[in-house]
Amino acid sequence: MNIRRIIKISTYFFSFLVSISISSQNQVDHPKLVVGIVVDQMRWDYLYRFSNRYGKDGFKRLLNEGFSCENTMLNYVPSFTAIGHSTIYTGSVPSIHGIAGNDFIVQSTGKSLYCTEDSTVYSVGNGDKDYKKGKMSPFNLKATTITDELKLATNFKSKVIGISIKDRGAILPAGHAADAAYWYDGISGNFITSTWYMKELPKWLVDFNKRKLPEQYLKKDWNTLYPINTYTQSVDDKNNYEELYENSDNTQFPIKTSELVKKNGYGLIAATPYGNTLTLDMVKEAIGNEQLGKHENTDFLAISISSPDYIGHQFTINSVKIEDNYLRLDKDLADFFAYLDAKVGKGNYVLFLTADHGASHNAQFLLDNKIPAGNWNENAVRTELNQYLKEKYNINNLVLSLSNYQVNFNYKNITKDIDKKKLIEDCIDFFKKQSNVAYVVETAKVAEAAIPSAVKEKIINGYNRELCGEIQIILKPAWYSDSNLKGGTHGAWNPYDAHIPLIWMGWGIKHGKSNKEVYMTDIAPTIAALLHIQMPDGCIGKPILSVLGQ
Ligand SMILES: [Zn+2]
Repeated sequence: MNIRRIIKISTYFFSFLVSISISSQNQVDHPKLVVGIVVDQMRWDYLYRFSNRYGKDGFKRLLNEGFSCENTMLNYVPSFTAIGHSTIYTGSVPSIHGIAGNDFIVQSTGKSLYCTEDSTVYSVGNGDKDYKKGKMSPFNLKATTITDELKLATNFKSKVIGISIKDRGAILPAGHAADAAYWYDGISGNFITSTWYMKELPKWLVDFNKRKLPEQYLKKDWNTLYPINTYTQSVDDKNNYEELYENSDNTQFPIKTSELVKKNGYGLIAATPYGNTLTLDMVKEAIGNEQLGKHENTDFLAISISSPDYIGHQFTINSVKIEDNYLRLDKDLADFFAYLDAKVGKGNYVLFLTADHGASHNAQFLLDNKIPAGNWNENAVRTELNQYLKEKYNINNLVLSLSNYQVNFNYKNITKDIDKKKLIEDCIDFFKKQSNVAYVVETAKVAEAAIPSAVKEKIINGYNRELCGEIQIILKPAWYSDSNLKGGTHGAWNPYDAHIPLIWMGWGIKHGKSNKEVYMTDIAPTIAALLHIQMPDGCIGKPILSVLGQ
């Protein structure tokens, strides 16, 4: 063999090796897009309760193709929206991530803080830069999100966008380094943002807002998808448990949203299933125009579907409205998954669907069915407590608020001669005499208290000393704070509020399910493991091995 031939063969061989190495580089070693879907107030049992009428391409596709973690629990109290979204995306808890409620009281000032309020930023997208609902940012969240970690891991090349009707549902999941978070403004009917992200809305969003979709949807009125007598999973549509829409005199179908919108404004759409459709319309617009899933690095789209929460609060979880909402959402999801398959490519994206919390039954409904329950009138109890303390200390209003089931003291009224220890003891004695209180404990000392360890851990995780009251109140099962007995709510440690769906589907996910108990804090580290990136900086959860096929 002459030297030329040897060179020629080795050149062929070398280029063959190079081509192998290039082709292995071309194989996708990461998903093109991560899609997080939080369905606000979705109880785990909705996956099964309405499943006889779900189609095969929505919730059932998730269960049939994906991996379901059937026992995913919140591991903190209180179970509210802002905390849920923060915990899903940080893998952390209020004690660390600093979102201690939707609103919480900064203990050093006694001032109430809304989770995403930020006076240093301005509103973008509705004309008035000082518009309060636009002055929002993730500033109050004190830990990184998995979306932040993706940004850090790719030298900020990944695109991250959060979208929801609720500001907190868009902002907290998208994290600090996001390209955008967009939320719905019920006054203008537009999706808006803030100067945290940008100076003006992108052209595609200006055009989207101009289409006035909320008006179009509400014109159609809200009637049931199927004949109303086929809604067998719910109480009769005529019942005493539902809250009226403002300016309406009955709660029964058909709901004349075309008339109500004239008085109630575009915010009305949030408490109808059209809110789900509108959110996903907006999401598709963002995917197409921002080319999500078309970049070299993984992009992340954090969606929160808010309307099920509004509908649940208004009509309770056993209403025909909730059943109809989920049947319609099932169709919307089927349509959205088909869109992702076509646009990003089946197998190129990984998706998870979960919830920020569940919800309890209406207390009167339970009582009518001989199940113990009740309504705790927070304001009346606070007045009574302040009266009780006044008799002992001769000072008015020592307690500022009982919000988030915590005693928040009015520190400016607590004079030097008050023995603080004694004051706390007196409050605890007061609550121990209340028949609807299961436990009451000085939060900093909860570790020593005689409380079941599962509940104790939730109190410890939820307690942030700078942002939470010093005493935690745990009510008996099915008791909740509300001013009347209409509608439904959430906020407690109990399984009805704490048990959420968690299903994964797509890139890197094998079909299966597990009944092992896992926690909301495990979601972010599982995404981190899938993407081979660092878990968020306040993360206390663990990767869910069964999801990773281990
Ligand atoms: Zn809620």
